[in-house]
Amino acid sequence: MAKKVAVIGAGTSGLVAIKTCLDEGLEPTCFERTNDIGGLWRFNGDPEDGRASIYKSVIINTSKEMMCYSDFPIPEDYPNFMHNSKIFSYFRMYAEHFQLLKYIHFKTSVHSIKKCPDFATTGQWEVVTEKEGNQEAAIYDAVLVCTGHHTNAHLPLDSFPGIEIFKGQYFHSRDYKNPESFSGKNVIVIGIGNSGGDIAVELSRTASQVFLSTRKGSWILNRVSDYGYPIDMLNLTRFLNTLKNALPISVLNWIGESTVNRRFDHANYGLKPNHRIFSQHPMVNDDLPNRIIAGAVVVKCNVKRFTETDAIFEDGSVEKNIDVVVFATGYTFGFPFCEDLKVQNNKVSLFKYTFLPELEKQTLAVIGLIQPLGAIMPISELQVRLATRIFNGEKLLPSVSAMKEDIMKKKEEMEKRYVASQRHTIQVDYMEYMDELAELLGVKPNLRNLFLTDPKLAWNVYFGPCTPYQYRLTGRGKWPKAREAILTQWDRALKPLQTRTVDKAGGNSMASLIILGFILLLVAIFVF
Ligand code: FAD
Ligand code: NAP
Repeated sequence: MAKKVAVIGAGTSGLVAIKTCLDEGLEPTCFERTNDIGGLWRFNGDPEDGRASIYKSVIINTSKEMMCYSDFPIPEDYPNFMHNSKIFSYFRMYAEHFQLLKYIHFKTSVHSIKKCPDFATTGQWEVVTEKEGNQEAAIYDAVLVCTGHHTNAHLPLDSFPGIEIFKGQYFHSRDYKNPESFSGKNVIVIGIGNSGGDIAVELSRTASQVFLSTRKGSWILNRVSDYGYPIDMLNLTRFLNTLKNALPISVLNWIGESTVNRRFDHANYGLKPNHRIFSQHPMVNDDLPNRIIAGAVVVKCNVKRFTETDAIFEDGSVEKNIDVVVFATGYTFGFPFCEDLKVQNNKVSLFKYTFLPELEKQTLAVIGLIQPLGAIMPISELQVRLATRIFNGEKLLPSVSAMKEDIMKKKEEMEKRYVASQRHTIQVDYMEYMDELAELLGVKPNLRNLFLTDPKLAWNVYFGPCTPYQYRLTGRGKWPKAREAILTQWDRALKPLQTRTVDKAGGNSMASLIILGFILLLVAIFVF
């Protein structure tokens, strides 16, 4: 009989969890507290309790070929960096294509999950759900926790004395929806993550003045990279990873910082942090320097305190008559429905951020609890491919001591690399992490074999973007169209841009990039 799996949440992680359970012959039941799929990516004008909430203009900062599910490419006419409504429509397409909706119980919250008394032998969980005030308990053979980690606002009011007497309006970025009601106002945005950057830029078009306050500063990347290609498609390649692993981090930092400083000097713009570029979660904003040089956004240091009307900054400067303060200060996460999943200051002890090493039976997995340098969706997919095979009895995890050692190692590496902040507790490098999961699953592409058997594909896998299709080329879950999807990924990336016929004679930027890549490879071989 198929094992019963409870999936908690029908966001991007929950949808792929349902689909993968079906692929693996498991019987999924998904509980979603709201009335529809999509999680964070379903925009709603009013923030809902217990669900992530975005502003109307959010455009994703991971490109379509890098963020899609590995066996369901995003339509070729969709833009590379999509508006949230398009992303939502892709998720809807995915759910309909794989007929996932019938497995979802909407308006049903998971209230608690507890190990059954005979857990050590059965690995079963008692899942208590709540719908319209009525609670119901049922037993499941396994649980996939897909509840997201951008829901609970981190609102550090204690760090801002005087906020209690401030007469203006203040709120967390989760409650920001659109700029309409801020026309003509003086606004301070606190925090320079991606939310802070986006909101400052958007408000600066209607507000009287926007101040962007940051305690550390930030390096700013562009979605649109060399020759106009998506930044992640150019940078997340196996070839560049080989070079990256061969070079000292100080050299990589120097290259990264020189590159972004060529666009605008971060010191001149008041943004240069004390930390190096690879010590922070990437902040991607194409418009911020334009708004700063136009004077519409003024960069400030941390706010020391507020008065009824003013903000006094740590450098002693004062900005008067402030109307609005937006705290774009990030999120905290937790699992109040499960006492086995402990979180302290956004820190968890999970193997590959997914499994609890000490569980007597590996029947619980947390999906999507990562902050990648890349897209979350394909990572959730690979995590769930691993979890479902483990639920089906395959021994794919190492020993408990090896898992704990890996957790410790990852924590140490993260502390060493990243500047201390509660936003840097679940960081992963997209490709390394995908490869780690793929190795456990036996689906990592074998480049040596590929170069011998299919050099054209191998070339694309090594020099091209590490798109999710690479993890469908081989092993269990192999997708027959993965090869074609890889060979046509640049066509899909360029298609939405080709809206006017132009004479391309006189220069081919992609050819230049390939030649440059080839020269770099020769240099790499020569040097190392
Ligand atoms: P969510 O999308 O948060 O979905 C969780 C679901 O679980 C929700 O539907 C919720 O209602 C449900 N749920 C929660 N608790 C319960 C419960 N107890 N019972 C039943 N249901 C429950 N990531 C990227 O990869 N690229 C980006 O460019 C990007 N941009 C972002 C922009 C913003 C403004 C923010 C805040 C985040 C962004 N992210 C981005 C990260 C984002 O979290 C992920 O893209 C993605 O939404 C994670 O999906 P998820 O399914 O894991 O979580
Ligand atoms: P975030 O990345 O956690 O950034 C929070 C910011 O607030 C940081 O600059 C942090 O500074 C600052 N902060 C926190 N506590 C503070 C305090 N007490 N005093 C002063 N500053 C404080 O949060 P986010 O920007 O909301 O982003 C959350 C996630 O959503 C990220 O994964 C992000 O990439 C994603 N996102 C994506 C998009 C997009 O795709 N367009 C848009 C928005 C968000 P420190 O670094 O000093 O802690």
